Amino acid sequence: MERRPEEALDALCAHYRVERPALRIGLPKGEKRALGCYVHRERTIYMSSEEYMFDPYVLIHEFYHHLRHVGGKHRGTERHARDFALSFLRNAQSSDGRSDGSS
Ligand SMILES: [Zn+2]
Repeated sequence: MERRPEEALDALCAHYRVERPALRIGLPKGEKRALGCYVHRERTIYMSSEEYMFDPYVLIHEFYHHLRHVGGKHRGTERHARDFALSFLRNAQSSDGRSDGSS
């Protein structure tokens, strides 16, 4: 999954039965410091650089904002996005029986 962000997104969308967001490299105007960013009016996940395309935490975090948005709720808090990504990764690791070794 780490090496295939497009496939990871497909899997997440299938699991949550939501339309797939677009995925782009490079942040939108006005956004300088984030690793990733979700722009709801475009339904697009922006990743700050190619390097972060392969960081499942950033991808899942931004997916959470998409999930909340297409679910008709507000975009969700940062805290919930973080918890969602962390628990998703924890579950993925325990079912895989391996850790990714990232810091
Ligand atoms: Zn966020």
